[in-house]
Parts: sequence; C-alpha cells; structure tokens
Amino acid sequence: MHKNARVSKKLWKLGMKEYNTQYFDFNKDGDLIAKEGNNVYNIRYLAEKFGTSLEILFPYILEERVEDLIDLASSLIKKLKYQGKFYYHFPMKSNQTKEVVMAMVGEGANIETASYNELSLVRKMLEQESFNQKMRILCNGPKTDKYINLIDELQHRGLKVIPIIEGPNELKNFQYSRYDVGIRLDMPVKTNSSWNKKIDRFGFTKEEILKMPPFKNLKVLHYRMGAKFDKPADVLATTKYALNVYFELKAKNPSLDSIDIGGGMPIPYERDKKYQADKILERIFELLKKESEKRGVPHPNLVCEWGRYIVAPAQVTIYKVIDTKNITHKNIPAKKWYVVDGSFMNDLIDTWSIDQKWAVAPVNNKYDEKITDVWLSGSSCDSDDIYTGVESSVSLPDYNFNENEPFYIVFFDTGAYQDALASSHCLLSSPLKIVVENGHIVVARKRASPDDMGKEFGW
Ligand SMILES: *Cc1c(COP(=O)(O)O)cnc(C)c1O
Repeated sequence: MHKNARVSKKLWKLGMKEYNTQYFDFNKDGDLIAKEGNNVYNIRYLAEKFGTSLEILFPYILEERVEDLIDLASSLIKKLKYQGKFYYHFPMKSNQTKEVVMAMVGEGANIETASYNELSLVRKMLEQESFNQKMRILCNGPKTDKYINLIDELQHRGLKVIPIIEGPNELKNFQYSRYDVGIRLDMPVKTNSSWNKKIDRFGFTKEEILKMPPFKNLKVLHYRMGAKFDKPADVLATTKYALNVYFELKAKNPSLDSIDIGGGMPIPYERDKKYQADKILERIFELLKKESEKRGVPHPNLVCEWGRYIVAPAQVTIYKVIDTKNITHKNIPAKKWYVVDGSFMNDLIDTWSIDQKWAVAPVNNKYDEKITDVWLSGSSCDSDDIYTGVESSVSLPDYNFNENEPFYIVFFDTGAYQDALASSHCLLSSPLKIVVENGHIVVARKRASPDDMGKEFGW
C-alpha cells in the first residue's frame, strides 16, 4: 500500500483549486483518480484498459468552468450595477471536439469561429436543431468567399452571426452589410509573448479605424489582450486603449454597443499563480463603467472569448514510460531519461513550437518515496522530440524500466489547441481519446492503425 497519499497530493499540487486540480487526487494505493461528484475514475485503470498514449476529456470540468465564468459575470454586473450585458463566446479553435462544443453550448456559451470549416459545424448543429436560435456567433479569421457566403446564408436563416472585419477586402464586403458587424483593432500595447506579435497582419490601427466612413451596422469593437500577460496592469492598459477608440468610434457609429476583449486569459500550466480571472474581470467591468460614465455614454456590452482558460484543464494526456536510461554526463540537472510511448512533437506540439510547459505527475505513484530529476523524450525518431530543454528537468518518482509494474505519467491541462495542431511525424498515431462523464466512458477517437495512417499519405 502507498504510504502517504496526502504528502504526494501536496507534492504534485493536486486537489488545489488555484491550479484547477480540485478534481484530482491519489487513492490509498497511490493511483491517480479523477472525481466527479460521487463518481471516481481510476486513471491507472483507464490507462491499462484503453492503452497509452491516452487523452482523457472530462466535459464536466469545462462545464463547471464556463458556468463559473458566466455566474461570475452576472454577479459582477449586479454588484457594480453595470448596465451592459456579458456575452461569453467559446472560440472553437481552442477545441473543436463535438463533446466540448456541445457541452459549451449546453451551458449557455455563444460561439466564435475562426474558419469556414468551423462555421460549417455550426450549420450542422443548426440543422440538427441542437442549439437555441438566440445563440450568437462571432466570425473571425480570414473571410474567404466560402466563409462570406456561409455567413450570409446563416444570417438569412435568422441566426445572429456577426463577422469581425480584419482586413481591407473584408471591409469592402461588410462595411455596408445590413446585418451587424464588428471590427478588429490592432493593439499597439505589446507585451513579451509569442501571441503578441510585433507585426500583426490582422486588424486596423486606431488611426485607420477612425478615418473610416460610418458603417451601416457597426456593433462590436474587437481586440485581443494577448495570451500570457503576466500583470493585470497590462491587461487593463489594452482595455483602456481599446475603450478610447470605442468612444471615438461610437461618436460616428451610434449603433456600436459592444467591446470584445477576445481570448488570452492564462492558466497556471506551470503551477505558478498569475492573476485570477475573477479579479481581472471585475477590474475590466469597473474600468468600462467608470470611463463610460465620465463621458455620459451607456455602459458597453462586454464580450469575452477565453479559450484555453476554459478548456485546457478539462483534458489530460497519459503516457507510459517505455524505457529509462541513466545520464552520466556531469553538471547536468537531469539524472535520467524517461522515454514515453507518445510524441511531444505530435501530441503536445506547443511543447516544441512555443516552448510550452505542462504540469507532469505520476499516475501510479508507489515510487514517489524517491524523486529524481529526469528528461522526458517522445518516441518519434527525432532528437527534438523531448519535453525538457538542456537547462531544465522534471521531477518524477525514480523508476527503472525493468521493474515489474508499468509506470504511467500524466500531463495536465492539455485540452486546448493540441489536438487540432497535432501532426503525424514518423507516422505515429495520435493518442486514443476517451470522454469520461456521469460514470460513462466513451471512445471519441480510436487509435489510428498503420493502414489508417498510410491512407492519409496515399497508401
Ligand atoms: C485564438 C482566439 C481566441 C482564444 O484565445 P485563448 O488564448 O485560447 O483564450 C479568442 N478569440 C479569437 C479571435 C482568437 O483568435
């Protein structure tokens, strides 16, 4: 029996709301479990049953998160006597899985699309009558002819579809649309982050926007606050800048009534505490209220498109350690290599492309009396397929491959972007994906066979 589950829980920062791990714990045998009300799922058992690499999606986690966000906004609106409305739009690009999108819509989320294909899924949902017709849809991303035609079609069918104008050609198409439109402001307030490009092709500068002749139906001013802001002051600086543009633009376009702060709310991937969502949302509402009252303008509606914040904590990825190797070099932080049966380059590509870090913990935890510093490697043939750089390492229980029992590890917060960005380097299959809710387990994506993988490449 595992000696001290309580110590391990603390060590791996489970059961802590500030890290979104309140759903996870270790049982008395040292196995990782996920809790949903009185249901308990043994993760080691799932790994053994379905095999690894394995993605586990917990829709109830994202349902709770989106419900909390919408409730938070309602209570702030009451508390501050705010007169505008709050609209949460789920950005589909952060996770297009059917179970995710349906769960979001079921909790009252609106939708934001980034492409014609994403909007086509909305049409599919419409045809299956799977959402309330009052749901609102914001359309970002380059407006190809197909995308424009579909926006038009859905508007004619009575849906509230609002394209956000992001470039000159889109301006030509939508400036005099008889339906509501939005426009994207290129935010010059920059921070140090890979999402906050020094040069951004999307949107218009403040000067460009204010020079435009009046629109027929301008409703929304959109900008992005940029992911990975470290300080609330940075977030508020962008809001303040956008708000000034909003007031000037509204003078010319009285129909303008909403400010859209986009996505970008961070989550504690690295188990560090950044600012909290409730604090920042309160300060944004306060700022909107104060500034509009100063000018005698009605409080704008607030639109929020936080993606990773809602969906990342709702999925974990499990790997089995399939080899271990001692590192004998001196002056190196790591003592051992752990090779896993999946690929960071394929399954968790942000590891590789933007140096994303994740919280890693053991799934079967009977070895954690002794912790060691390891480097993790994926099982593609590529020497770049590693989790940790030379300078850093991950602390995990000391394990040798020749022990009798298999050893599994878990990556937390993998629910945003990784599936859509996944690749098939070395023709490896993506992890099998299961959806776990209400005591039921459903396979949402099978593991591709060699034939399936070959087909993708004309075999
Ligand atoms: C990507 C994107 C989002 C979501 O960003 P997160 O960082 O996941 O919150 C929201 N809105 C738009 C327009 C986007 O392009």
